[in-house]
Amino acid sequence: MSELFIECKYIISGSECNNIIKNGAIIVEDNQIIAIGKKETVQKLVVGHDKLERMNHIAVPSYVNAHTHLPETLLRGICDNEKLDVWLNKFIWPFEMRMSSDDAYFGALLGCLELIEAGVAGFIDQYFYTESIEKAVNEAGIRALLCPSVFDNTPESGSLDKTWKYVRNLVSSKASNRKDLVNYGIGPHAPYTVPQDYLLEIKDLASKYSIPIHIHLNETEKEVEEAKANLGDTPIEYIHKIGLTGEKILGAHCVHTTDREREIMRETNLTVLHNPQSNLKMTSGIAPVYQYLDLGINVAVGTDGNASNNDLGMVEELTTTAMLQKYLANDPKVADNAEVLKLGTLYGMKAMGLESKGISEKSLADITLLSLEKSRWWPQNNPLSNVIYSSSSSDVTDLIVNGRVVYLNREHQFLDKEKIIEKCSSIANKILTEMGK
Ligand SMILES: [Zn+2]
Repeated sequence: MSELFIECKYIISGSECNNIIKNGAIIVEDNQIIAIGKKETVQKLVVGHDKLERMNHIAVPSYVNAHTHLPETLLRGICDNEKLDVWLNKFIWPFEMRMSSDDAYFGALLGCLELIEAGVAGFIDQYFYTESIEKAVNEAGIRALLCPSVFDNTPESGSLDKTWKYVRNLVSSKASNRKDLVNYGIGPHAPYTVPQDYLLEIKDLASKYSIPIHIHLNETEKEVEEAKANLGDTPIEYIHKIGLTGEKILGAHCVHTTDREREIMRETNLTVLHNPQSNLKMTSGIAPVYQYLDLGINVAVGTDGNASNNDLGMVEELTTTAMLQKYLANDPKVADNAEVLKLGTLYGMKAMGLESKGISEKSLADITLLSLEKSRWWPQNNPLSNVIYSSSSSDVTDLIVNGRVVYLNREHQFLDKEKIIEKCSSIANKILTEMGK
């Protein structure tokens, strides 16, 4: 049995993420938090546990990045200033078509390094080469919900039909063998790229194994207009009419939705994966998250892939979320600090199909520790406000995932950072040279 005793200056505890314990401590046994409270009380329960003394730190529930395309780390910074069609056709797709499964494996390892350094314990992915990503995540020791892309022309399988057959076999073999940390969903790219007959087969597969469908929905106004012209409905109405919403839907973006679509989202328990920085950078718009939350719609925050964001850090994504929602609602009262923290932590766990009560007794031991050493943390009038508005991913010093320390004093415990960075640099260089860039 692994046992860990963590002491911290502050702990943001409880399933509402609004209870702040000063001079607190946490005991972890195996993958669970078994005690939490004031240091002097909890200390009495400790017998020979490994000790993390972090009295100049704050403990928060670990972040969950709810929408990624992990091997896109290799594409970081290759195109920052183009419209979506040029971005995809001239940069992203030509790069991806040259990627091998081995390249994707190293790209995913780099993604894991970045997630861990940002205090992110789990992520929800949609990409090809999923088995390479799984191998990387298993080495890193973090959580993932991997949703193999069903998409035309992936480098893995060529045509949409071949991709679907490959993904169907892969998901069938993985879904019947559930794991603690890494599980599978299925990832049809979007209603405008995957024809209806495939979507219906995907629905049957999701239903058979009770796995989520991770799909891009209503990202741009253009996409919504084209769906009306080509599919006869707005995207969410369309997937509802063909019966997809009977399954657990994780809808990435949902920037432009109608009242009727919001009603469908609420009624069918659709989860919105909100990616504010990617939506701003690609000039897609701002999703009305405060309205979704008012309606009782599930929302979790993610970053999107590194090609469009260009980092995987959740601390900054939550600051952006809070500010954008205040602006959009024209009301500084929306986006309460604890609610914003839940969007990047507990609600992400829920989207992954896991129940988390945050840093509470009998909750899964996913804990992120942030150092308070930088001046921007002072004075500590309101530690929770500092977590949302003054902190940075670079404050993360330690990460515990499922009771295991994967990042200790800013040192990776299972990954060779130097080797991964060197390998990824040479892969990116090779592909960009082939592309003539
Ligand atoms: Zn995406």
